[in-house]
Amino acid sequence: MARLDLRPNCECCDKDLPPDSREAFICTFECTFCRDCVEGVLDGHCPNCLGNLVERPIRPIGGPVGGLSKYPASTKRVLKNGGCVMTPDPAGADAVPAPA
Ligand SMILES: [Zn+2]
Ligand SMILES: [Zn+2]
Repeated sequence: MARLDLRPNCECCDKDLPPDSREAFICTFECTFCRDCVEGVLDGHCPNCLGNLVERPIRPIGGPVGGLSKYPASTKRVLKNGGCVMTPDPAGADAVPAPA
């Protein structure tokens, strides 16, 4: 069964994001960030692919398909080199001042 890569940390600040965290946000490529970074430096979009970030769904422990006990969260920590910096908003190119 295809499943999300539930990464254990924020790619920007390395904050722990356990599988039941309500603070975790992901893009379609499963880049994973904490709420503070998403609402702060990232301004709602992924610095890697510029896609939008949405709240990561919680995978239940059990349930009909086995949940976390059958499909455990990833333990591989992914951390962005040098952390995150403000990324340009792909929809807001006008906001970037033109070079003089
Ligand atoms: Zn973070
Ligand atoms: Zn991404």
